[in-house]
Amino acid sequence: MSILIKDGILVDANDSIKGDLLIEDGRIIKAAAKIDTSEAKQVLDAKGCYVMPGGIDPHCHMQLPFMGTVASDDFFTGTRAALAGGTTTQIDFIVPNPEQSMLDALKQWSGWAEKACADYSFHMAVTWWGDKTAAEMDEIVNKQGINSFKHFMAYKNAIMVNDEIMMNSFIQSRELGAICLIHAENGELVARKQEELLAQGITGPEGHPLSRPPEVEGEAANRAIVFADEVGVPVYIVHTSCKPAVEAISRARRKGMCVIGEALIGHLLVDESVYWNEDWEFAAAHVMSPPFRAKGHQEVLWDSINNGDLSVLGTDHCVFMHKQKANGKGDFTKIPNGTNGLQDRMHLFWNFGVNTGRINMNQFVALTSTNAARIFNMYPQKGSLIEGTDADVVVWDPKAERTISVKEHLQNVDFNVFEGTKVTGINRWTIANGKIVFADGKANVEEGAGKFVARKPFAPMFDNLRTRVKVRQPQAVARR
Ligand SMILES: [Zn+2]
Repeated sequence: MSILIKDGILVDANDSIKGDLLIEDGRIIKAAAKIDTSEAKQVLDAKGCYVMPGGIDPHCHMQLPFMGTVASDDFFTGTRAALAGGTTTQIDFIVPNPEQSMLDALKQWSGWAEKACADYSFHMAVTWWGDKTAAEMDEIVNKQGINSFKHFMAYKNAIMVNDEIMMNSFIQSRELGAICLIHAENGELVARKQEELLAQGITGPEGHPLSRPPEVEGEAANRAIVFADEVGVPVYIVHTSCKPAVEAISRARRKGMCVIGEALIGHLLVDESVYWNEDWEFAAAHVMSPPFRAKGHQEVLWDSINNGDLSVLGTDHCVFMHKQKANGKGDFTKIPNGTNGLQDRMHLFWNFGVNTGRINMNQFVALTSTNAARIFNMYPQKGSLIEGTDADVVVWDPKAERTISVKEHLQNVDFNVFEGTKVTGINRWTIANGKIVFADGKANVEEGAGKFVARKPFAPMFDNLRTRVKVRQPQAVARR
């Protein structure tokens, strides 16, 4: 089956060039100024449209067992929603229970992911440390195709890691050529603030942001960055939501430290006033960590996207139905944390980023796709329009519109934090591995068509850091 995308503008992270794109057997086989229509079985007329690499969401959670319940989007509904929104690859998080082996957890997640209809990969969380952990990390990287480890500095008495475990893992990650991901919130401070607030009778969703102020995130981000720099391992701060965390990242990057900052579409657009809404269900539906912030933080995030300090856009898509959120009635600390975005991320980012002039189209591609591919080492197979690579492509119609709503979305959740937002500029077609999986507003997906994307260690983009670590070994003074 061959598809020719004709007369569009090919947009990647660097250039925007008028041209045609030919796809065959799941691969991009030719990108050229003009390709004859006789070369393909099917021709898509992309006049007036942009042809871009399919999106990569580096941060989502399908059917995650969390806070006594399970996230309601599974690998089928979640990947289907992603494809409808132009995201053709997503990276999920395997989160072993304390004492559970990584390999055992990998087996569990791989089983769940069999029904995915879009390609996916995994990050592995380090949630505890035992005699075998270092060896397991080795196997995860060198035999299982996972090159990234996640560390939760929050969620005390559950999956939080202390400084010692974080350092153990950072050192082993450096040896293995893996990257370290950080959920940056000081879990000790959060736990104490939660107790204080509950004792003061603040039990509603407003207690959530009050217990996790921006400083708590800034402190943790800075600590993780200092550790990573000391060890000489690349560090990636997930869901950067506020000024203190951005400042820690920016300061480190100005010094030449190897730090990547991730922003979430939700933090760019939703502010903390939602938690003070008098409708409990509405307020609770917005509970996620870090919480949505006061409006002033949003401009800081947009500026940092523009200057490159935040270089990846994710969602942290992790959804729970109203009846699951209700577990936290009377105690905000029990409201399952998580909100949607997988289907909406690219539409919103185009509308509020490109249409407003905050970013250009090439930045759009870089932030929604290419940068994640480079950082997590699946470039150019993913995140590019290069000949020979996977045919994951979106054809973007800058004039088409969508009004985001729980009534039309494919995300398996009865709420949408972007409800009622009208966006201009959406995908007309999504092509995943050479197949049209979304066309003119309709998804046409196949359960199980998504494949696991294995990722090798030692991503080339961090070669300079590894050289620096070797060159800068301290030398003892030769004394007489
Ligand atoms: Zn997450």
